[in-house]
Parts: sequence; C-alpha cells; structure tokens
Amino acid sequence: MKKVIIIGGGLSGLSAGIYALKNGFKATIIEKNDEVGGLCTTWYKDGIMIDGCVHWITGSSRGNMLPIYKEVGMLEDVKIFKPPFFYKFYYKDIEIEVSRDVNILKDQLFKFANDQVDKNNLNLFFKLLRRFKNIPFHTGKPVSCLKKTEVVGYIRYIAPMALAWNKTINMSILDFANLFNSDILKHFFLSFMPSYYSLTYFVGIISQFVTDNADTIYVRSLDLSLNIKKKFLELGGKIILNEEITKLNIENNKLLSIESNDNKFEADYYINASPLPYFYDKLLDKEYHDKYVDYIFDDIENYPLISTVYISMKIDKEYKENIDHFNLIYDEEGIRVGSSINNTLHYRAYPYLKNDDGSTTLICLIDLHIKDYDVFKEKENNGTYYQYKEELGNKVMDIYINKFPNVKKHISLIDVATPLSFERKTYTYKGAYLSSLATPFGERKSFNIKDKYINNLYHAGQWITQIGGIPRSLSNGKFAIDELLHQIELAKRIKKQKKQNNSK
Ligand SMILES: Cc1cc2nc3c(=O)[nH]c(=O)nc-3n(C[C@H](O)[C@H](O)[C@H](O)COP(=O)(O)OP(=O)(O)OC[C@H]3O[C@@H](n4cnc5c(N)ncnc54)[C@H](O)[C@@H]3O)c2cc1C
Repeated sequence: MKKVIIIGGGLSGLSAGIYALKNGFKATIIEKNDEVGGLCTTWYKDGIMIDGCVHWITGSSRGNMLPIYKEVGMLEDVKIFKPPFFYKFYYKDIEIEVSRDVNILKDQLFKFANDQVDKNNLNLFFKLLRRFKNIPFHTGKPVSCLKKTEVVGYIRYIAPMALAWNKTINMSILDFANLFNSDILKHFFLSFMPSYYSLTYFVGIISQFVTDNADTIYVRSLDLSLNIKKKFLELGGKIILNEEITKLNIENNKLLSIESNDNKFEADYYINASPLPYFYDKLLDKEYHDKYVDYIFDDIENYPLISTVYISMKIDKEYKENIDHFNLIYDEEGIRVGSSINNTLHYRAYPYLKNDDGSTTLICLIDLHIKDYDVFKEKENNGTYYQYKEELGNKVMDIYINKFPNVKKHISLIDVATPLSFERKTYTYKGAYLSSLATPFGERKSFNIKDKYINNLYHAGQWITQIGGIPRSLSNGKFAIDELLHQIELAKRIKKQKKQNNSK
C-alpha cells in the first residue's frame, strides 16, 4: 500500500487525508500544533470562548459541496443556524438588513437610490445575484485532470455563470461602489469585504445567502475540525501532533523525506497542506520555486494577502437586549491600522453559544493589508505591542458602545489577536487568512496542485485558489488526491506505451 504524508492538519490537510484513505493509500497527517484545525479553531481566555472563524458556510443547502461535507463528516451532529438576515449594516442612523428574502433587500436598497444611475446599478447588482444563484462550485475533478471529452462537459457546466463571472471578475468592489451617487449605497457596497477584491466574491457570497444556500452553525469552529478528524481516524488515518516539519530532503526532483527537529518521515507521496506562502518562504528551497507563484507573492500591491486582527469582548448575562449575530457598524473616523483605515467594523456575536458564566462573546474582525503586519512587528520590537493592542481593543469597544449605549456597563475587553498571534499559531504567512488571488488582476486564478518541480509533491489548502473559505479548503484537499491519482494513471499509461514501443 502506497503511503501519503500530509504536512499540516488544517481542514485541507484533513480532507486530503480522508480522500487518500478512501482511495486506498495509507495516510499520515503531521501537525505542528497540539490539535488539528489550523485557522478553523476556538480557544478560551479566562473561561471566555474566542472563536473568530466560521460565521457562514456556503453551499449548506444544495449543490456540489454537500456531498463533500458529508464525505468528510464535517456537519455530523451539527445544528445549522439559519439567521433571517446575513448581517445588519448601520450607517449613521440608517439600518439595512441583508435579508434572506431578496425582495426585502431590494426594497431597502432602492429606498436609498439618488437617481436613475443608482437604480441602474442596483438593477445590475440584483441581476448578478440571480446569475450567481446556482454557482456551479466545481468539486468533481480539478480541471488539470479532465479528459478531453470531460472538458466539453465542464464548459457546459460552468457556462451559465461564466457571463456573470466575466462581468464582475475584472471589477474591484471599490470600482463598483464608486458607480453610485448615493453615499449610503457606496458605503453599503464597501462595508463587507476588502475594497480591492473583485466584485465576483461579494456578489458570490451575498447570492448564496439570499437564495438560502449559506448558513451558520450552532457549534464552535473547532467542533467542525474535530468532526473531520474523527472521520479521518475512523477510516484508519494516523495523526502526529506537536511535530513541526522544518526540512525537506529533495534529490533529483523527488522529495525523499521530511524532517522535524527530532524525527524523519518517509512516504511515496507528500501533500503540502501548510499555508503555501509560508511553505515557499520557510521550507522550499528557492531553486524549486515556481516563478509564477513568487511573482504573485512578491507583488503585494496587486495581489495582497489579507490578514486580520480580531478583538474579543464579553457581554455579561445581565444585558438583556437582543444581541445580533452579525452587525456592521459604520464609523466616520474609523480605525487606522498601518495603511488601512477601516470605517466599517464587523461585530459578530454568539448569543447561542453562552460562556459558562452566562455571558456572550462578541468579536470584531478588522481586515488588514499584508503590509500592515510590519506595524505590529515594529510595536513588538519597541515594547509598545501590548499597549497598542489594548488601545485598539478599547477603540473597537467604544464604537460598539456608541451604537448601543445600554451595553456600556455590561461589556469588557478580553483578547486582541493580531497577525503576529496567527502567525505564531498557524504559520500562516504574516498572519494572512485570505488568499491573494481574489483581486481583479489575476491572469490565472489558481496555482498548480502538482508541484512544478518536485514530482511526488502536491499542494492543498485555501491558498492555491481564490478565496472561498471552508469549501475551498475541503475541495482543494480532495483535488490534491484527484491529481495524485491522475498522475499515477498517466505514469502507468506512459510506461505501457513505452513497453509497446520497445516490443515493436
Ligand atoms: C478569522 C477567520 C474567519 C473565517 N471565517 C470563515 C467563514 O465564516 N466561513 C468559511 O467558510 N471560512 C472562514 N474562514 C476560512 C477557513 O477557516 C479557512 O479557509 C480554513 O480553515 C483554512 O484551512 P487550510 O487547511 O487551508 O489552512 P490552515 O488552517 O492554515 O491549515 C494549515 C495547517 O498547517 C499547519 N502547519 C503549518 N506549518 C506546519 C509545519 N511546518 N509542520 C506541520 N504543520 C504545519 C498549521 O498548524 C495548520 O494546522 C475564516 C478564517 C479566519 C481566520
């Protein structure tokens, strides 16, 4: 039985492990942390739950992701929470609810159209939402593995969306927002995602919500990871925790073994499911770098990775007012971190996952450009890091209190996790959590699954394609195995052909 070793036990590593086992390989996952999950995790501080990860799962009601969720066991015994609205956007004294009911959303947005230009742009937005409704999220086989006859089927399959995709992929969210004359609408479109991302991704996610194909969950993010771990172990997989891979031994374009500080591991095939930017920066020798990947990672202006700082607060049980799961609050002054000014702050609460003392955790996520990592590094070096974190936390809390003054006596700051925290925990490059391939500049929207130079190495993880969170991570884990099987098949065919040629 051929052996596969997977570096990294995040969702993509676990998924690759499961599909490796299902296809007759022996599979071992090597994870540097004391638990699997990677970014999809939860931790506690003073008994208060800190969980910035899963706030929505797309493809939860229909479509191609459902079989994958099932096969990896992710949603086993998980109660799905179907909020009536995706989020509420508070702009000055105005409230816009991104309702599941597209007609309600329409009524709300059209109220703020200043003129015919705004109306036309809104009409375009709702038309795109309809087009994206049945996003054929491709989970069958990676395109590189398709036979000529299958390519035709694939094109037919993605055709309905291709038109909408082409209309939006080359336009940034900022470009689209700037088409509006109404300030409210402009800020509405700028409120949800980094403004330099392609419009496709904003339309994509909203369309899933308004057509009832995205939900959230009544469990912690870590519980999803543990569900997949359970499945992997049940199928006979092996997990080695607390083992950090620090060295790759490569000879003649073949990965012979990988090493941690204490141990050496050997397999027939290897899957890298650690973050690709980190793998390139720390593990893979320059001579084996795919120049295209280097080019994308180096051009941080056009292809920025996005990192985050998330601030956790607790709201005590005496506060009886309704706490929404997801509020976006616009603040005129905003919060500046390095080069980024965030005018809309995202507050997410877990009213259905109470802490032991009956309190509710409230988390604010601030997206950052990758270059803002240096701000935190500098503060760490000059000894002002902790003070800065507290100042940031208090500002974020003040904006919330300003919107909901009655919460003032009931709210306190618990934790501020910066890009440095994420980097320490998951080795994600400079604390990044969103891929660089989501801007309008992409000539190609994915990296190779099979390593360009190392013949028995494959890549998984959210980093090798555009953003897409959990669906991307899980399907990319599966794709790594699909590609591996394809290459084995290809090698067999070439060998057979050679044999036939020789016997002629
Ligand atoms: C704040 C936040 C909010 C999010 N919200 C959502 C959401 O609402 N919906 C959604 O679908 N997705 C969301 N996501 C995205 C989702 O969590 C990720 O797509 C997914 O968890 C990434 O999995 P991965 O396996 O690709 O990478 P990772 O989780 O980064 O896994 C990489 C693993 O490799 C390990 N590793 C790294 N280096 C080594 C080494 N040298 N040796 C051994 N192990 C190593 C790490 O410890 C880690 O476990 C969110 C993510 C974050 C951070």
